[in-house]
Amino acid sequence: MNEHTSFDENAEPPSPGTAVADLLGEVRPSGRAAGTAVPGNSRLAVTLPEQTSIFEDSGIVLPAARPARAASPAPRFVVGPQTRRFRKRFYADVPDGQWNSWTWQLRNRIRDREGLERLIELSMDERRAIELHSGSLPVSITPYYASLIDPVNPLQPLRRSVVMVSDEHVTSPDESIDPLAEDEDSPVPGLVHRYPDRVLFLVTGICAVYCRYCTRSRHVGVPGDLQCTTSRWNQALSYIESHPEVRDVLLSGGDPLTLSDEKLAWLLSRLRRIPHVEIVRIGTKAPVVMPQRITTNLVRMLRKYHPLWISIHFTHPDELTPEAAAACGRLADAGIPLGSQTVLLKDINDDVAVMKRLFQGLMKIRVKPYYLYQCDPVRGTAHFRTSVEKGLEIIRGLRGHTSGYAVPTYVIDAPGGGGKIPLLPDYLAGRDGGDLLLRNFEGNLYRYPDPGGAVGSDVEDRERDAAEAALK
Ligand code: SF4
Repeated sequence: MNEHTSFDENAEPPSPGTAVADLLGEVRPSGRAAGTAVPGNSRLAVTLPEQTSIFEDSGIVLPAARPARAASPAPRFVVGPQTRRFRKRFYADVPDGQWNSWTWQLRNRIRDREGLERLIELSMDERRAIELHSGSLPVSITPYYASLIDPVNPLQPLRRSVVMVSDEHVTSPDESIDPLAEDEDSPVPGLVHRYPDRVLFLVTGICAVYCRYCTRSRHVGVPGDLQCTTSRWNQALSYIESHPEVRDVLLSGGDPLTLSDEKLAWLLSRLRRIPHVEIVRIGTKAPVVMPQRITTNLVRMLRKYHPLWISIHFTHPDELTPEAAAACGRLADAGIPLGSQTVLLKDINDDVAVMKRLFQGLMKIRVKPYYLYQCDPVRGTAHFRTSVEKGLEIIRGLRGHTSGYAVPTYVIDAPGGGGKIPLLPDYLAGRDGGDLLLRNFEGNLYRYPDPGGAVGSDVEDRERDAAEAALK
Protein backbone atom coordinates (compact mmCIF):
# COMPACT_ATOMS: atom_id res chain seq x y z
CA MET A 1 0.00 0.00 0.00
CA ASN A 2 1.24 3.52 -0.61
CA GLU A 3 0.30 6.98 0.54
CA HIS A 4 -2.93 6.73 -1.39
CA THR A 5 -4.00 3.79 0.67
CA SER A 6 -7.29 4.53 2.28
CA PHE A 7 -9.80 2.84 4.48
CA ASP A 8 -11.76 0.80 2.01
CA GLU A 9 -15.45 1.42 2.52
CA ASN A 10 -16.21 -2.09 1.46
CA ALA A 11 -13.42 -3.74 3.36
CA GLU A 12 -14.00 -5.31 6.70
CA PRO A 13 -12.93 -2.95 9.49
CA PRO A 14 -11.00 -4.54 12.31
CA SER A 15 -12.96 -6.38 14.95
CA PRO A 16 -13.50 -4.16 17.93
CA GLY A 17 -11.50 -5.22 20.87
CA THR A 18 -8.72 -7.11 19.16
CA ALA A 19 -5.63 -4.97 18.78
CA VAL A 20 -6.80 -2.10 20.92
CA ALA A 21 -6.22 -3.92 24.16
CA ASP A 22 -2.59 -4.18 23.19
CA LEU A 23 -2.68 -0.60 22.03
CA LEU A 24 -3.71 0.70 25.40
CA GLY A 25 -1.07 -1.22 27.20
CA GLU A 26 1.86 0.24 25.27
CA VAL A 27 2.38 3.92 25.89
CA ARG A 28 5.43 5.92 25.11
CA PRO A 29 6.03 9.61 24.46
CA SER A 30 7.18 9.15 20.86
CA GLY A 31 8.42 12.23 19.03
CA ARG A 32 10.17 13.41 22.20
CA ALA A 33 13.39 12.44 23.86
CA ALA A 34 13.03 9.04 25.45
CA GLY A 35 11.51 9.35 28.86
CA THR A 36 10.29 12.91 28.35
CA ALA A 37 6.88 13.30 29.92
CA VAL A 38 4.01 14.44 27.77
CA PRO A 39 2.55 17.55 29.41
CA GLY A 40 -0.61 16.84 31.27
CA ASN A 41 -0.77 13.14 30.53
CA SER A 42 1.87 10.49 30.69
CA ARG A 43 -0.20 7.80 28.96
CA LEU A 44 -0.88 9.39 25.65
CA ALA A 45 1.30 8.23 22.80
CA VAL A 46 0.47 4.78 21.58
CA THR A 47 2.16 2.14 19.55
CA LEU A 48 0.24 0.20 17.01
CA PRO A 49 0.42 -3.24 15.55
CA GLU A 50 2.94 -3.19 12.73
CA GLN A 51 0.40 -4.02 10.09
CA THR A 52 -1.56 -0.83 10.75
CA SER A 53 -1.61 0.82 7.34
CA ILE A 54 -1.77 4.38 8.58
CA PHE A 55 1.93 4.18 9.39
CA GLU A 56 3.11 2.80 6.13
CA ASP A 57 4.39 6.04 4.66
CA SER A 58 4.88 7.90 7.91
CA GLY A 59 8.57 7.32 8.44
CA ILE A 60 7.70 6.46 12.03
CA VAL A 61 9.74 3.56 13.35
CA LEU A 62 7.49 1.28 15.28
CA PRO A 63 8.67 -0.88 18.09
CA ALA A 64 7.72 -4.52 17.81
CA ALA A 65 4.09 -5.08 18.62
CA ARG A 66 3.46 -6.53 22.03
CA PRO A 67 1.38 -9.64 22.34
CA ALA A 68 -2.27 -8.74 22.57
CA ARG A 69 -3.88 -8.85 25.98
CA ALA A 70 -7.21 -10.55 26.16
CA ALA A 71 -9.91 -8.17 25.04
CA SER A 72 -12.46 -7.24 27.66
CA PRO A 73 -15.87 -8.83 27.19
CA ALA A 74 -18.10 -7.06 24.72
CA PRO A 75 -20.75 -4.93 26.41
CA ARG A 76 -24.24 -6.31 26.49
CA PHE A 77 -26.04 -4.36 23.82
CA VAL A 78 -29.69 -3.72 24.27
CA VAL A 79 -32.00 -4.24 21.30
CA GLY A 80 -35.16 -2.17 21.26
CA PRO A 81 -38.56 -3.75 20.47
CA GLN A 82 -38.92 -2.19 17.01
CA THR A 83 -35.46 -3.32 15.98
CA ARG A 84 -36.09 -6.77 17.40
CA ARG A 85 -39.21 -7.17 15.23
CA PHE A 86 -37.32 -5.93 12.17
CA ARG A 87 -34.45 -8.32 12.80
CA LYS A 88 -36.80 -11.23 13.14
CA ARG A 89 -38.35 -10.40 9.80
CA PHE A 90 -35.30 -9.50 7.71
CA TYR A 91 -32.17 -10.69 9.51
CA ALA A 92 -33.42 -13.78 11.33
CA ASP A 93 -30.29 -15.72 10.43
CA VAL A 94 -27.92 -13.08 11.81
CA PRO A 95 -26.78 -14.01 15.31
CA ASP A 96 -26.68 -11.43 18.12
CA GLY A 97 -22.90 -11.29 18.02
CA GLN A 98 -22.96 -10.09 14.43
CA TRP A 99 -25.90 -7.76 14.73
CA ASN A 100 -24.25 -6.11 17.74
CA SER A 101 -20.91 -5.76 15.97
CA TRP A 102 -20.29 -2.32 14.49
CA THR A 103 -18.04 -3.82 11.85
CA TRP A 104 -20.89 -6.07 10.73
CA GLN A 105 -23.26 -3.09 10.68
CA LEU A 106 -20.78 -1.07 8.61
CA ARG A 107 -20.06 -3.92 6.20
CA ASN A 108 -23.72 -4.68 5.69
CA ARG A 109 -24.97 -1.17 5.01
CA ILE A 110 -27.77 -0.96 2.47
CA ARG A 111 -26.12 0.68 -0.51
CA ASP A 112 -28.47 0.39 -3.47
CA ARG A 113 -32.03 0.25 -4.69
CA GLU A 114 -32.23 -3.52 -4.58
CA GLY A 115 -31.04 -3.59 -0.99
CA LEU A 116 -33.58 -0.96 0.02
CA GLU A 117 -36.40 -2.67 -1.83
CA ARG A 118 -35.81 -5.79 0.17
CA LEU A 119 -36.69 -3.81 3.31
CA ILE A 120 -39.03 -1.01 2.33
CA GLU A 121 -41.61 -0.23 -0.34
CA LEU A 122 -39.93 2.47 -2.39
CA SER A 123 -42.15 5.13 -3.93
CA MET A 124 -41.79 5.83 -7.66
CA ASP A 125 -40.06 9.08 -6.80
CA GLU A 126 -37.53 7.46 -4.47
CA ARG A 127 -36.80 4.73 -6.98
CA ARG A 128 -36.26 7.23 -9.78
CA ALA A 129 -34.03 9.43 -7.58
CA ILE A 130 -31.80 6.49 -6.67
CA GLU A 131 -31.51 5.41 -10.28
CA LEU A 132 -30.55 8.94 -11.36
CA HIS A 133 -27.91 9.33 -8.67
CA SER A 134 -24.20 9.24 -9.30
CA GLY A 135 -21.16 10.59 -7.49
CA SER A 136 -20.86 11.59 -3.85
CA LEU A 137 -23.41 11.04 -1.09
CA PRO A 138 -24.67 7.64 -2.22
CA VAL A 139 -27.37 5.76 -0.37
CA SER A 140 -25.97 4.18 2.76
CA ILE A 141 -28.04 2.98 5.71
CA THR A 142 -26.96 0.59 8.44
CA PRO A 143 -29.28 -2.36 9.07
CA TYR A 144 -29.83 -0.95 12.58
CA TYR A 145 -30.96 2.46 11.29
CA ALA A 146 -33.07 0.75 8.60
CA SER A 147 -34.97 -0.91 11.43
CA LEU A 148 -36.20 2.55 12.48
CA ILE A 149 -37.50 3.46 9.03
CA ASP A 150 -41.18 3.19 8.17
CA PRO A 151 -41.34 0.60 5.37
CA VAL A 152 -44.51 1.99 3.77
CA ASN A 153 -44.57 5.72 4.47
CA PRO A 154 -42.14 7.78 2.34
CA LEU A 155 -42.97 10.85 4.44
CA GLN A 156 -41.73 9.38 7.72
CA PRO A 157 -39.12 11.81 9.08
CA LEU A 158 -36.23 9.35 9.45
CA ARG A 159 -36.90 7.92 6.00
CA ARG A 160 -36.87 11.37 4.42
CA SER A 161 -33.52 12.14 6.04
CA VAL A 162 -31.69 9.17 4.49
CA VAL A 163 -33.60 7.98 1.39
CA MET A 164 -33.12 10.21 -1.64
CA VAL A 165 -35.99 11.79 -3.56
CA SER A 166 -35.93 13.45 -6.97
CA ASP A 167 -35.91 16.97 -5.45
CA GLU A 168 -32.27 16.23 -4.66
CA HIS A 169 -31.50 16.51 -8.35
CA VAL A 170 -32.82 20.08 -8.53
CA THR A 171 -30.37 22.90 -7.95
CA SER A 172 -32.02 26.06 -6.65
CA PRO A 173 -30.73 29.61 -6.92
CA ASP A 174 -28.16 30.46 -4.21
CA GLU A 175 -27.25 26.82 -3.63
CA SER A 176 -23.71 25.59 -4.06
CA ILE A 177 -21.64 22.48 -3.46
CA ASP A 178 -19.57 24.30 -0.83
CA PRO A 179 -21.91 26.93 0.60
CA LEU A 180 -19.71 27.66 3.62
CA ALA A 181 -16.65 28.17 1.39
CA GLU A 182 -14.75 25.68 3.53
CA ASP A 183 -12.43 24.78 0.68
CA GLU A 184 -11.26 28.42 0.56
CA ASP A 185 -10.28 28.31 4.23
CA SER A 186 -8.40 25.06 3.85
CA PRO A 187 -4.63 25.56 4.16
CA VAL A 188 -3.94 21.83 3.70
CA PRO A 189 -6.25 19.13 2.33
CA GLY A 190 -9.02 18.24 4.76
CA LEU A 191 -8.27 20.95 7.32
CA VAL A 192 -10.41 24.08 7.67
CA HIS A 193 -9.01 27.00 9.66
CA ARG A 194 -11.71 29.63 9.88
CA TYR A 195 -11.96 30.70 13.49
CA PRO A 196 -8.96 32.14 15.33
CA ASP A 197 -8.33 29.40 17.90
CA ARG A 198 -9.69 26.22 16.40
CA VAL A 199 -9.58 24.03 13.33
CA LEU A 200 -11.85 21.51 11.69
CA PHE A 201 -10.01 18.34 10.70
CA LEU A 202 -11.90 16.21 8.16
CA VAL A 203 -10.31 12.89 8.97
CA THR A 204 -12.35 10.66 6.68
CA GLY A 205 -14.98 10.88 3.96
CA ILE A 206 -16.92 7.88 5.19
CA CYS A 207 -20.10 7.80 7.29
CA ALA A 208 -22.23 4.88 8.38
CA VAL A 209 -25.33 6.60 7.00
CA TYR A 210 -25.44 9.42 4.46
CA CYS A 211 -27.83 12.22 5.38
CA ARG A 212 -29.46 13.67 2.31
CA TYR A 213 -28.90 17.29 3.47
CA CYS A 214 -25.20 16.92 4.31
CA THR A 215 -23.21 20.15 4.17
CA ARG A 216 -20.18 18.17 3.03
CA SER A 217 -22.01 16.15 0.40
CA ARG A 218 -19.24 17.14 -2.03
CA HIS A 219 -16.74 15.08 -0.03
CA VAL A 220 -18.56 12.24 1.66
CA GLY A 221 -18.90 8.82 0.13
CA VAL A 222 -16.60 9.72 -2.77
CA PRO A 223 -13.99 7.06 -3.38
CA GLY A 224 -10.60 8.74 -3.10
CA ASP A 225 -11.76 11.88 -1.31
CA LEU A 226 -10.66 12.65 2.26
CA GLN A 227 -8.60 9.49 2.37
CA CYS A 228 -7.17 8.31 5.66
CA THR A 229 -3.60 8.37 4.46
CA THR A 230 -0.69 9.01 6.75
CA SER A 231 0.64 11.69 4.43
CA ARG A 232 -2.63 13.65 4.45
CA TRP A 233 -3.07 13.31 8.20
CA ASN A 234 0.59 14.25 8.80
CA GLN A 235 0.18 17.39 6.70
CA ALA A 236 -2.77 18.44 8.85
CA LEU A 237 -0.94 17.58 12.07
CA SER A 238 2.11 19.58 10.96
CA TYR A 239 -0.13 22.55 10.27
CA ILE A 240 -1.65 22.31 13.75
CA GLU A 241 1.80 21.90 15.30
CA SER A 242 3.04 25.04 13.60
CA HIS A 243 0.04 27.16 14.66
CA PRO A 244 0.23 27.76 18.40
CA GLU A 245 -3.03 29.70 18.32
CA VAL A 246 -4.95 26.46 17.66
CA ARG A 247 -6.18 25.29 21.05
CA ASP A 248 -9.22 23.30 19.91
CA VAL A 249 -9.33 20.61 17.20
CA LEU A 250 -12.65 19.29 15.92
CA LEU A 251 -12.35 15.90 14.24
CA SER A 252 -15.11 15.44 11.72
CA GLY A 253 -15.57 14.18 8.20
CA GLY A 254 -17.33 12.00 7.30
CA ASP A 255 -17.61 10.31 10.62
CA PRO A 256 -14.44 9.76 12.67
CA LEU A 257 -16.10 6.86 14.50
CA THR A 258 -16.07 4.82 11.30
CA LEU A 259 -12.31 4.61 11.84
CA SER A 260 -10.82 1.71 13.75
CA ASP A 261 -9.87 2.19 17.40
CA GLU A 262 -6.23 1.91 16.37
CA LYS A 263 -6.37 4.75 13.86
CA LEU A 264 -8.33 6.96 16.21
CA ALA A 265 -5.91 6.27 19.05
CA TRP A 266 -2.98 7.10 16.81
CA LEU A 267 -4.55 10.39 15.79
CA LEU A 268 -5.59 11.35 19.30
CA SER A 269 -2.16 10.53 20.70
CA ARG A 270 -0.52 12.68 18.04
CA LEU A 271 -2.84 15.58 18.84
CA ARG A 272 -2.28 15.18 22.56
CA ARG A 273 1.46 15.56 22.04
CA ILE A 274 0.92 19.08 20.71
CA PRO A 275 1.21 21.27 23.82
CA HIS A 276 -1.08 24.08 22.61
CA VAL A 277 -3.99 21.75 21.70
CA GLU A 278 -6.10 22.07 24.82
CA ILE A 279 -9.22 20.21 23.76
CA VAL A 280 -10.19 17.75 21.09
CA ARG A 281 -13.75 17.33 19.89
CA ILE A 282 -15.27 14.59 17.76
CA GLY A 283 -18.34 15.16 15.62
CA THR A 284 -20.22 11.93 14.93
CA LYS A 285 -23.57 10.35 14.15
CA ALA A 286 -22.41 6.87 15.16
CA PRO A 287 -24.33 6.65 18.48
CA VAL A 288 -27.51 7.37 16.46
CA VAL A 289 -27.05 5.25 13.36
CA MET A 290 -24.60 2.60 14.59
CA PRO A 291 -24.74 2.59 18.40
CA GLN A 292 -22.89 -0.74 18.38
CA ARG A 293 -19.77 1.34 17.61
CA ILE A 294 -19.64 2.57 21.20
CA THR A 295 -17.85 -0.44 22.60
CA THR A 296 -16.20 -0.82 25.97
CA ASN A 297 -12.83 -0.79 24.27
CA LEU A 298 -13.59 2.37 22.35
CA VAL A 299 -14.62 4.33 25.43
CA ARG A 300 -11.70 2.98 27.41
CA MET A 301 -9.39 4.26 24.70
CA LEU A 302 -11.15 7.63 24.32
CA ARG A 303 -11.03 8.42 28.02
CA LYS A 304 -7.22 8.44 27.83
CA TYR A 305 -7.39 11.62 25.76
CA HIS A 306 -9.36 13.96 27.96
CA PRO A 307 -10.38 16.71 27.71
CA LEU A 308 -12.34 15.16 24.88
CA TRP A 309 -15.81 16.32 23.88
CA ILE A 310 -18.26 14.65 21.52
CA SER A 311 -20.96 16.31 19.43
CA ILE A 312 -23.62 13.90 18.24
CA HIS A 313 -25.82 14.55 15.25
CA PHE A 314 -29.42 13.82 16.27
CA THR A 315 -32.33 14.73 14.02
CA HIS A 316 -35.58 13.43 15.44
CA PRO A 317 -36.97 11.94 18.68
CA ASP A 318 -37.54 8.60 16.87
CA GLU A 319 -33.76 8.20 17.09
CA LEU A 320 -33.93 8.10 20.89
CA THR A 321 -33.94 4.32 21.06
CA PRO A 322 -32.72 2.09 23.91
CA GLU A 323 -29.63 1.39 21.76
CA ALA A 324 -28.77 5.08 21.30
CA ALA A 325 -29.43 5.77 24.99
CA ALA A 326 -27.06 2.97 26.01
CA ALA A 327 -24.37 4.20 23.61
CA CYS A 328 -24.58 7.75 24.96
CA GLY A 329 -24.57 6.35 28.50
CA ARG A 330 -21.30 4.52 27.85
CA LEU A 331 -19.70 7.71 26.54
CA ALA A 332 -21.05 9.81 29.40
CA ASP A 333 -19.84 7.24 31.93
CA ALA A 334 -16.36 7.70 30.46
CA GLY A 335 -16.57 11.35 31.48
CA ILE A 336 -16.99 12.64 27.93
CA PRO A 337 -19.24 15.71 27.76
CA LEU A 338 -21.88 15.14 25.08
CA GLY A 339 -23.65 17.76 23.00
CA SER A 340 -26.09 17.38 20.13
CA GLN A 341 -26.17 19.14 16.80
CA THR A 342 -29.46 19.15 14.96
CA VAL A 343 -30.26 20.52 11.52
CA LEU A 344 -33.67 22.15 11.19
CA LEU A 345 -35.40 20.22 8.40
CA LYS A 346 -38.73 20.88 6.71
CA ASP A 347 -41.39 18.23 7.40
CA ILE A 348 -38.89 16.29 9.49
CA ASN A 349 -38.38 18.20 12.71
CA ASP A 350 -39.74 21.73 12.06
CA ASP A 351 -42.25 21.60 14.85
CA VAL A 352 -42.06 22.85 18.43
CA ALA A 353 -43.54 19.68 19.92
CA VAL A 354 -41.17 17.43 17.96
CA MET A 355 -38.15 19.49 18.92
CA LYS A 356 -39.21 19.62 22.55
CA ARG A 357 -39.50 15.84 22.59
CA LEU A 358 -36.07 15.53 21.00
CA PHE A 359 -34.29 17.99 23.28
CA GLN A 360 -35.97 16.79 26.48
CA GLY A 361 -35.20 13.21 25.46
CA LEU A 362 -31.57 14.11 24.87
CA MET A 363 -31.33 15.59 28.34
CA LYS A 364 -32.56 12.26 29.73
CA ILE A 365 -29.68 10.43 28.05
CA ARG A 366 -27.15 13.02 29.20
CA VAL A 367 -26.71 14.85 25.91
CA LYS A 368 -26.91 18.65 26.02
CA PRO A 369 -28.69 20.13 22.99
CA TYR A 370 -25.91 22.32 21.65
CA TYR A 371 -26.70 23.74 18.21
CA LEU A 372 -29.82 23.94 16.08
CA TYR A 373 -28.62 24.72 12.55
CA GLN A 374 -30.54 26.44 9.84
CA CYS A 375 -30.07 24.04 6.89
CA ASP A 376 -27.19 25.21 4.69
CA PRO A 377 -27.92 26.04 1.05
CA VAL A 378 -26.16 22.95 -0.26
CA ARG A 379 -26.96 21.96 -3.81
CA GLY A 380 -30.18 19.95 -4.02
CA THR A 381 -31.47 20.62 -0.52
CA ALA A 382 -34.17 23.29 -1.04
CA HIS A 383 -36.86 20.75 -0.11
CA PHE A 384 -35.30 20.50 3.35
CA ARG A 385 -35.05 24.21 4.16
CA THR A 386 -37.55 26.06 6.30
CA SER A 387 -37.89 29.80 6.71
CA VAL A 388 -35.72 31.36 9.42
CA GLU A 389 -38.96 32.44 11.11
CA LYS A 390 -39.66 28.73 11.72
CA GLY A 391 -36.37 28.35 13.60
CA LEU A 392 -37.12 31.42 15.72
CA GLU A 393 -40.63 30.07 16.41
CA ILE A 394 -39.11 26.85 17.69
CA ILE A 395 -36.68 28.65 19.99
CA ARG A 396 -39.55 30.87 21.21
CA GLY A 397 -41.56 27.73 21.91
CA LEU A 398 -38.75 26.24 23.98
CA ARG A 399 -37.17 29.11 25.91
CA GLY A 400 -38.96 29.45 29.23
CA HIS A 401 -41.20 26.49 28.42
CA THR A 402 -38.57 23.90 29.28
CA SER A 403 -35.20 23.72 31.05
CA GLY A 404 -32.65 26.19 29.71
CA TYR A 405 -30.23 23.29 29.26
CA ALA A 406 -32.66 21.79 26.75
CA VAL A 407 -32.60 24.87 24.51
CA PRO A 408 -29.86 24.82 21.87
CA THR A 409 -28.36 27.86 20.22
CA TYR A 410 -30.03 28.47 16.88
CA VAL A 411 -27.44 29.44 14.28
CA ILE A 412 -27.04 30.22 10.63
CA ASP A 413 -23.66 29.26 9.26
CA ALA A 414 -23.15 32.30 7.05
CA PRO A 415 -22.83 31.36 3.38
CA GLY A 416 -19.47 32.32 1.97
CA GLY A 417 -17.55 31.56 5.15
CA GLY A 418 -18.79 34.07 7.70
CA GLY A 419 -19.03 31.46 10.45
CA LYS A 420 -21.89 30.67 12.80
CA ILE A 421 -24.21 33.55 13.62
CA PRO A 422 -26.62 33.01 16.54
CA LEU A 423 -30.23 34.07 16.19
CA LEU A 424 -32.66 34.81 19.00
CA PRO A 425 -36.31 35.77 18.98
CA ASP A 426 -36.66 39.45 19.86
CA TYR A 427 -37.04 39.69 23.61
CA LEU A 428 -35.96 43.32 23.58
CA ALA A 429 -39.11 45.44 23.42
CA GLY A 430 -37.55 48.92 23.61
CA ARG A 431 -36.52 51.57 26.13
CA ASP A 432 -38.37 53.99 28.33
CA GLY A 433 -35.85 56.52 29.64
CA GLY A 434 -33.64 54.70 32.11
CA ASP A 435 -35.64 51.47 31.85
CA LEU A 436 -35.07 48.67 29.40
CA LEU A 437 -38.33 47.08 28.21
CA LEU A 438 -38.21 43.29 27.93
CA ARG A 439 -40.69 40.71 26.75
CA ASN A 440 -40.74 37.40 28.61
CA PHE A 441 -41.53 33.91 27.27
CA GLU A 442 -45.27 34.50 27.80
CA GLY A 443 -45.19 37.77 25.87
CA ASN A 444 -45.55 39.98 28.97
CA LEU A 445 -43.59 43.22 29.23
CA TYR A 446 -41.16 43.89 32.07
CA ARG A 447 -38.91 46.80 32.99
CA TYR A 448 -35.29 46.44 33.95
CA PRO A 449 -33.54 49.51 35.45
CA ASP A 450 -30.66 50.41 33.14
CA PRO A 451 -29.94 54.11 33.76
CA GLY A 452 -27.59 55.67 31.24
CA GLY A 453 -27.89 52.72 28.86
CA ALA A 454 -28.74 52.97 25.19
CA VAL A 455 -29.67 49.37 24.35
CA GLY A 456 -33.23 49.20 23.03
CA SER A 457 -33.49 52.88 22.10
CA ASP A 458 -33.53 52.02 18.39
CA VAL A 459 -36.13 49.26 18.56
CA GLU A 460 -38.94 51.42 17.22
CA ASP A 461 -36.72 52.64 14.37
CA ARG A 462 -35.74 49.05 13.55
CA GLU A 463 -39.35 47.90 13.61
CA ARG A 464 -40.41 50.79 11.40
CA ASP A 465 -37.52 50.10 8.96
CA ALA A 466 -38.42 46.43 8.84
CA ALA A 467 -42.08 47.24 8.19
CA GLU A 468 -41.11 49.67 5.38
CA ALA A 469 -38.74 47.13 3.86
CA ALA A 470 -41.50 44.52 3.89
CA LEU A 471 -43.83 46.90 2.05
CA LYS A 472 -41.34 47.63 -0.75
S1 SF4 B 1 -23.25 11.96 9.35
FE1 SF4 B 1 -22.62 14.10 9.11
S2 SF4 B 1 -20.98 14.07 7.58
FE2 SF4 B 1 -22.07 12.10 7.45
S3 SF4 B 1 -23.61 12.40 5.85
FE3 SF4 B 1 -24.59 12.86 7.81
S4 SF4 B 1 -24.34 15.09 8.02
FE4 SF4 B 1 -22.86 14.41 6.47
